[in-house]
Amino acid sequence: MRLGAGTFAACCVAIEVLGIAVFLRGFFPAPVRSSARTEHGAEPPAPEPSAGASSNWTTLPPPLFSKVVIVLIDALRDDFVFGSKGVKFMPYTTYLVEKGASHSFVAEAKPPTVTMPRIKALMTGSLPGFVDVIRNLNSPALLEDSVIRQAKAAGKRIIFYGDETWVKLFPKHFVEYDGTTSFFVSDYTEVDNNVTRHLDKVLKRGDWDMLILHYLGLDHIGHISGPNSPLIGRKLSEMDSVLMKIHTALLSKEREMALPNLLVLCGDHGMSETGSHGASSMEEVNTPLILISSAFQRKLGDIRHATRVQQTDVAATLAIALGLPIPKDSVGSLLFPVVEGKPMREQLRFLHLNTVQLSKLLQENVPSYEKDPGFEQFKMSERLHGNWIRLYLEEKHSEVLLNLGSKVLRQYLDALKTLSLSLSTQVAQYDMYSMMVGTVVVLEVLTLLLLSIPQALHRKAELEVPLSSPGFSLLFYLVILVLSAIHVIVCTSAESSCYFCGLSWLAAGGVMVLASVLLCVIVSVLTNVLVGGRPQRKAVLVTSGCLSFTRHWLNTWCVPSAGSALERGWQGGLGAAYPRPLGVIQICAIGADAFILGWKERFLQLLQR
Ligand SMILES: [Zn+2]
Repeated sequence: MRLGAGTFAACCVAIEVLGIAVFLRGFFPAPVRSSARTEHGAEPPAPEPSAGASSNWTTLPPPLFSKVVIVLIDALRDDFVFGSKGVKFMPYTTYLVEKGASHSFVAEAKPPTVTMPRIKALMTGSLPGFVDVIRNLNSPALLEDSVIRQAKAAGKRIIFYGDETWVKLFPKHFVEYDGTTSFFVSDYTEVDNNVTRHLDKVLKRGDWDMLILHYLGLDHIGHISGPNSPLIGRKLSEMDSVLMKIHTALLSKEREMALPNLLVLCGDHGMSETGSHGASSMEEVNTPLILISSAFQRKLGDIRHATRVQQTDVAATLAIALGLPIPKDSVGSLLFPVVEGKPMREQLRFLHLNTVQLSKLLQENVPSYEKDPGFEQFKMSERLHGNWIRLYLEEKHSEVLLNLGSKVLRQYLDALKTLSLSLSTQVAQYDMYSMMVGTVVVLEVLTLLLLSIPQALHRKAELEVPLSSPGFSLLFYLVILVLSAIHVIVCTSAESSCYFCGLSWLAAGGVMVLASVLLCVIVSVLTNVLVGGRPQRKAVLVTSGCLSFTRHWLNTWCVPSAGSALERGWQGGLGAAYPRPLGVIQICAIGADAFILGWKERFLQLLQR
């Protein structure tokens, strides 16, 4: 088939774009997202499962707490609270952790350990892909579903003081706010005073449901003088007194209220030994998370044991604490100790809502979701839960009911853990297969372009693209067969989701046909170039020019022996021109040899350094 140079180039560019797109799709795995983009509240909550008789609990459970206060201290590392610094500088917090009515966790933040993505993770429960990080450099308003969005929709009044990133993320969500800028890193006093100065007044008022404070001072001290600076201790003491003030105010208010309050102390990320953050070292990733409420049982002994959880678990927990639907894209699981004191039926209801939400997300993002162990566990727990409800509706108190209840509970907790893990790993993995398919297509087009350069330089610039030569068809079918086999093997054994496997057979087949056609065309063009008559003379000349340039480059810049090996190959094989097919094989072999030789030499050089 004869193609004009323009058409040929256009085809090449189109295929190249396709190849790059497939590669990028594998390199940047799509973040786990719910496809339900409908407005909040459009979807009714999942009803309580029931075997046979229908259950009457179809609404969302009511809130567990009347007011929620979140104290976020920027760059609060776990050992600042749970370690020796905490004991020394945060006596009140340490008392609450050890003997108070509280639950302590070490919440793991996923990299990048930078403020904005961490605020998002805390409030949406979702993990951003790296594409999100680039897309959100300007921190525009958060469009995803979040606890803040759900709270606003439910008519909750939210007040915010602190880092203005929140105000940018949630521009219309706070009934009152005062944003402080993190621009002046040298200031670590005023930036926090601007938050604390509102406290006295706001804690006396009763016209809010959620109060969020984001203190930046500690992070600024870290950036200026590192985690071992004496300033850190002073700042921690200041934060401890802030926490005490809020806690005592909340306790005194509680007498007038039907429900207890919840106080959350957390960090967004930690800081490294040099005081910076952003990467994935333990010091940057581990943050403390303390939930304090008179609803929790007081500790009996001197317990300093913090369970490891994920930062993304906070969103689901807050949603349940406030009686809101769990944010749609959340991959986190409910921190169970929060609901532990509730009656069995309510505990199971909360766990069921969370597993339903996670399994929905799994179904929408993982093609082979039915094989996921978490999904199987979820189905089993739901069945058992149905049986439990039936038994519960028949007889309210019995030994059997209690035993079955705790069994269902354990099942649910296992399912939650597995589902949450499957969804989190989904975001963190490269999709190697898609990347490879993309690379193959890109390389094929590049090779074809390179081979066509001599002809494309010709004045008439018309290219013979051998799409229908007889030798072509056998190779074509052979390649298609091999590619299909690889596709079936990869896609049936892949544990995580793969974009290319997720494509319909028609689309995947199309890409495979394209790859095979390209390969055959390359082989065909290559044979034409090397075993040809007059027009090929020019091709040989150009190729020869390219080769001598490469040889020169190799000789000058990196590996002399590789260059001379290439030269020997050229003279012995193609340069001698007879017999050409033999020359082709020889030059391939010599090329490979040169490559290996070159790298061996380079490696030896490196070793000697
Ligand atoms: Zn931060």
